[in-house]
Amino acid sequence: MSLSPTEKTVPGCSECGEPAVIYQQANRRYLCARHLVHEVEERVASTIRSEDLILPGDRIAVALSGGKDSTALLVILSRIFRTLPGATLVAVTVDEGITGYRTDTIRAAETLTKNLGIEHHTISFRDLIGDDLDTLLSDREKQACTICGILRKKAVSLIAEKVNATVIATGHNLDDEAQSVLMNALRGDLPRIIRKTETRSPTAFLPRIKPLASISEKEISVYLFVQGLFPHLPECPYASHSLRSEVRSLLSGLEIKHPGTMQNLIESKKSIEQSCSGMPVQGLLVHCKKCGDPCSGDICQFCRIRASLGK
Ligand code: SF4
Ligand code: ZN
Repeated sequence: MSLSPTEKTVPGCSECGEPAVIYQQANRRYLCARHLVHEVEERVASTIRSEDLILPGDRIAVALSGGKDSTALLVILSRIFRTLPGATLVAVTVDEGITGYRTDTIRAAETLTKNLGIEHHTISFRDLIGDDLDTLLSDREKQACTICGILRKKAVSLIAEKVNATVIATGHNLDDEAQSVLMNALRGDLPRIIRKTETRSPTAFLPRIKPLASISEKEISVYLFVQGLFPHLPECPYASHSLRSEVRSLLSGLEIKHPGTMQNLIESKKSIEQSCSGMPVQGLLVHCKKCGDPCSGDICQFCRIRASLGK
């Protein structure tokens, strides 16, 4: 990949011969900016169509952090919207309360939704649980991403329900998906590897869809960069504590040495899903004894975390 091509060294686009901005290892071709943008948007549209991720009349709550993945998701959905009859888009942002990080990303989310003319709502951890993440963590910084992830999921569900959304769209990309497969395997959590979040059921959570699941992080970065949309924002100060951060470094290194590693992990997940289809391995959904939300045990993760935080 080259982001600042020089005419002498940059190969031509496999489609049109213009200077390439990316090399796609999987299909061994180079793409220029125009063909990359077109191809990424087509692949997202195709994922949505082939997996019936969005139905006519859906009100889609896009979980918009302001970072690159959710920025790309909102931009792409706003562009391919003409192919989604009767559906409407609304962006929802969670303010976790992280000093030196969230102010900039929230401002980026506000600017983006204003430019795209998309309705935007925010919810904070303070609204949800009475405190900012910084305060909640005090001496448990190592658990930051676990606590933050569970609270954020709940916050997104609440705000999505409040704005009458019928489905939640998140910016998880191919790299995130591969990381999740490996993380769940490392934790010995088979049910979570194959848990389907996009299933529509009146007794479960709002369905969660991942339209960018076939797009790599590199493709998303270049897609935004060549259009002047890449958000240059600070990294969350807690990110380095997470298992995901270690798995991300590991997989990035493996992908360079052994191209296709991430895609192979996704294929493994699909094979496991097929092998387990029809088996009761995914666990029956019951309702949390404290809050009534659907969950797979007695008490949901949110209520467990809330209790451990003394809330
Ligand atoms: Fe939350 Fe961790 Fe993401 Fe920071 S890196 S926003 S703590 S999940
Ligand atoms: Zn609960």
